[in-house]
Amino acid sequence: MSKNIAIIGSGFLGLTLAQRLSDEGNSVTLYEAADRIGGLASAWSIGDVTWDRHYHVTLLSDSATRGIVEAIGLGDEFEWVETKTGFFTDGKLYSMSNSLEFLKFPPLGLIGKLRLGATIFYASKVRDWKALEKVSVDAWLTKYSGKKTFEKIWKPLLRAKLGDSYKKTSAAFIWATIQRMYAARNSGLKKEMFGYVRGGYSRVLKRFAEVLHENGVEIELSRRVTEVGRENERCFVLTGEGRREFDEVVVTCNPGIAAKIIPSLEEEEKERLSRIKYLGIVCASVLIRDSISEFYVTNITDESPFTGIIEMSALVDKEELGGNALVYLPKYVEKDDPLFSKTDDELEDLFLGELDKMFPQFKRETVEAFRVSRVKEVFPLPEIEYSTRVPGMKCSVDGVYLVNSSQITNGTLNVNETVLLAEKFLTGGFID
Ligand SMILES: Cc1cc2nc3c(=O)[nH]c(=O)nc-3n(C[C@H](O)[C@H](O)[C@H](O)COP(=O)(O)OP(=O)(O)OC[C@H]3O[C@@H](n4cnc5c(N)ncnc54)[C@H](O)[C@@H]3O)c2cc1C
Repeated sequence: MSKNIAIIGSGFLGLTLAQRLSDEGNSVTLYEAADRIGGLASAWSIGDVTWDRHYHVTLLSDSATRGIVEAIGLGDEFEWVETKTGFFTDGKLYSMSNSLEFLKFPPLGLIGKLRLGATIFYASKVRDWKALEKVSVDAWLTKYSGKKTFEKIWKPLLRAKLGDSYKKTSAAFIWATIQRMYAARNSGLKKEMFGYVRGGYSRVLKRFAEVLHENGVEIELSRRVTEVGRENERCFVLTGEGRREFDEVVVTCNPGIAAKIIPSLEEEEKERLSRIKYLGIVCASVLIRDSISEFYVTNITDESPFTGIIEMSALVDKEELGGNALVYLPKYVEKDDPLFSKTDDELEDLFLGELDKMFPQFKRETVEAFRVSRVKEVFPLPEIEYSTRVPGMKCSVDGVYLVNSSQITNGTLNVNETVLLAEKFLTGGFID
């Protein structure tokens, strides 16, 4: 039976749900607080270039992402590129793009390298990720790689992605990360093949919006939902523009927001949702006339105000970027981190000052544009026994469903997992 359904949030989760539910003949309204669709995967302009606000790649193994891009008619628009990985450690930049380079990597002795390699290989073979949820990531990595390798390599990498919260994180996090990176490697060649759609997410999202319009989906931009509830056997959605009734409402916002906008949830449910801790990000995009390195990702193990370097132009054709290089400088932080209160100018000084020190060939006068994205909640911290705390999709308010990134339990946050989560909801028999 065709239903009248509201979806709150137009990130990839909301978009995928809207596409599938409208394909099935339902009448769908998509509410988005921002002035554009896409959420974390949205595009913006930096200088004269329009590209992703946060760096995004697709892996060859991301079949759900590829499936949705195919479904909106852009499947043939992927470019697949072999990329290289760098490591900045002890003030020097090393290539770590193949096994030979790994064996030559000077900061670790032979035994350390063998143990590091064995840890990664072992993690790639583990299937029972729930057992890893019971152990802290630092204890697990120290056990398999040794204390020295943990301090020299793993700890800086964990801090890069989790800040000091790595101490509360389970080993399932590193398992999920390693599983994804293994999948990224073309098994025969042992090389990383990463992909992007020509035109970036801006193009993907534009086409997504067209498909949704063709399906009759109403996209309500700049409509922050302030309340979702149920009265007289009907669900309702409240925004600054007033109240509308629906048969069902799917809330895709993060759990903390869901707890606030659905006041009729039971107290215990609200507490459960509010207790899920998310990490945020401060992510600078720098448009530069010249590349700073040949690496798509440079992992940094030295102290630095940003915790990695992603050079998009090592993946994306520079013609897409007005002939420039595009470099992202991310720092993952907790939502009360002082970095959030720094101005763009302060961050520009801090971040570019560090690039100056790291890359002697980098010249500030070649920077065309600098822009900062700040998001206080990006992904849930995978704490010990996290999966036991995950909220269900059905809640205590009839006809209202919660589908959000906190329900990704055995993977890292990426578009592929996001689309799979939407599929899980759609095949779960919640809406029939
Ligand atoms: C720095 C960074 C790098 C990434 N790199 C990759 C990558 O390389 N490859 C990859 O596959 N994935 C990557 N991802 C992950 C990918 O972006 C996410 O998996 C995906 O975008 C999550 O979609 P979502 O719909 O779950 O959440 P979101 O994108 O957060 O969408 C939620 C939406 O809800 C809206 N909203 C919130 N509150 C309200 C309200 N009250 N009313 C109405 N609307 C509301 C928000 O504005 C937002 O648009 C990256 C993410 C980040 C941050």
